[in-house]
Amino acid sequence: MDGNGVMVCAPLECETLEGMLSSMDRAKAHGADLVELRVDAMSFGRISEVEELIRRRTLPAIVSFRLNSTRASQRQNDKTTCLQVLRLALELDVEFVEMEHEVVSHFDINELMDKRSSSKIIVSRYLNGEKMSKEKLGNLIASMQSSGGDVIKVLVEVDYITDLAPIFQLLTSCQVPLIATTVGDRGLISQLLGPKFGGFLAYGSLEGAIPGLPTLASLKQVYKIEHMNADTKVFGVISNPVRHSKGPLLHNPSFRYVGFNGIYVPMLVDDIKEFFKVYNSQDFAGFSVGIPHKEAAGACCDEVHPLAKSIGAVNTIVRRPTDGKLIGYNTDCEASITAIEDALRERHAANGEARAMDTSPIAGKAFVLVGAGGAGRALAFGAKSRGARVFVFNRNFKRAKALADAVSGEAIGYEHLDTFRPEEGMILANASAVGMEPHTDESPVSKGVLGAYELVFDAVYTPRNTRLLQEAAQAGAIAVSGVEMFIRQALNQFRLFTSGLGILFLNTHTLHSFLFPYGYPDFSTLD
Ligand code: NAP
Repeated sequence: MDGNGVMVCAPLECETLEGMLSSMDRAKAHGADLVELRVDAMSFGRISEVEELIRRRTLPAIVSFRLNSTRASQRQNDKTTCLQVLRLALELDVEFVEMEHEVVSHFDINELMDKRSSSKIIVSRYLNGEKMSKEKLGNLIASMQSSGGDVIKVLVEVDYITDLAPIFQLLTSCQVPLIATTVGDRGLISQLLGPKFGGFLAYGSLEGAIPGLPTLASLKQVYKIEHMNADTKVFGVISNPVRHSKGPLLHNPSFRYVGFNGIYVPMLVDDIKEFFKVYNSQDFAGFSVGIPHKEAAGACCDEVHPLAKSIGAVNTIVRRPTDGKLIGYNTDCEASITAIEDALRERHAANGEARAMDTSPIAGKAFVLVGAGGAGRALAFGAKSRGARVFVFNRNFKRAKALADAVSGEAIGYEHLDTFRPEEGMILANASAVGMEPHTDESPVSKGVLGAYELVFDAVYTPRNTRLLQEAAQAGAIAVSGVEMFIRQALNQFRLFTSGLGILFLNTHTLHSFLFPYGYPDFSTLD
């Protein structure tokens, strides 16, 4: 597939000249194509320091000086300094010189422009909370272009992920090179998907500390956005929170492995109904659904697979290419149950215990389930389908009761979990969020009771080895990580996303091998 080769830019904001230079070297080492030197962030005594910075640059650069930044406004003579910096950048023929729309509109910049040789001018505007229609934005851009901009840049505040839709439309239709950047976590996909819609460049942060910006490392290693083009299909995980999701680390290399032109991004979604109303084009081709949307997701679909319908939770949505309809599936159920079954079979084989292969190793067993949300429902229906006796414990008893009734099981008060021991050799499955990052010191069950279980499964997969699993292993139980479930459900999602292409090329072993080069589970710095 031919990508549009979009440039990746690292914004640099350091106080000192040396700080700027060393950050530039690190940006280069991380694969940045250019840097934005935010000179207003520097506290320089003499303009000669800025000159030295520009002369010693090791990458093509954008030189910018924001008058409205809090840093700049603390200084005196801002306007004078700003014009001085911009003039210098033009004299030194820096690749891009960024000027705020306010500067080009209110100051006489003719004298400045006379210095220009081959520098391109970026005219930028910060839309401070202004909600703009597509038409209003279009008019603004025309005005910015007429004031001398070769490239236009807008910085938009984003309250909801749906606020980005007009930006994507604008990127597609704009006749002049356009950079759209956003403020806030919900704007992350503006940089990840911008190149698909024709964005001039994408920003990636060096440290990962700027909300709404992906890290340079993730843009280069995980998303490889330079391969993206207008035909790239968009997939993503719809969740809140979404930062913990490892889906991008798994699906993006998988797409490349099988030669499928797709990108998979984290989507921080507050209102799932509104999301599907706004992002209704064929470009947005498939979704994983996470906390807390799995139960509401079914209502957003045109059709729901019978298994997902009976579970009452949809964790995968695919837009059917032929008619654009949204089809809901549940891949959690088989993923979690087969992870448990395979671990039991492996242990039985290692112990030399002969068991019938056509009967599930959990048939007839007591299956103690903690949690009655989306993952809990998938596990309960899976366990029931294999002939296990299901006992449901959940913080909210009403939910436990409803689920137990649906699978002909029994709901028991959450406070009795630590004393529940009707027999030995039971299966324990945690499908509650207890123990998930950042609460890694928590466990839903006391250590003392874990000896009653032959196998303990934890759906939580961040961290990989939860406190519950560590204590279960110490008690002699088989410990099965949520990573096993995650990989299996993701593999099935991948098959649905790629219409079966994954069946030919991928299995759980190849997916494991994608994860380990990233140092799982310590790759949380890659977002
Ligand atoms: P969900 O639908 O939002 O359900 C959350 C469940 O956790 C509910 O049962 C809730 O109980 C319980 N819970 C939350 N905080 C609790 C607390 N402090 N004490 C006791 N119970 C608490 O979420 P979900 O999609 O089912 O996900 C649940 C967990 O499974 C998450 O950690 C998720 O990351 C993990 N998961 C893993 C995979 C995988 O592939 N490994 C797949 C799906 C989910 P109430 O009903 O009382 O609120």
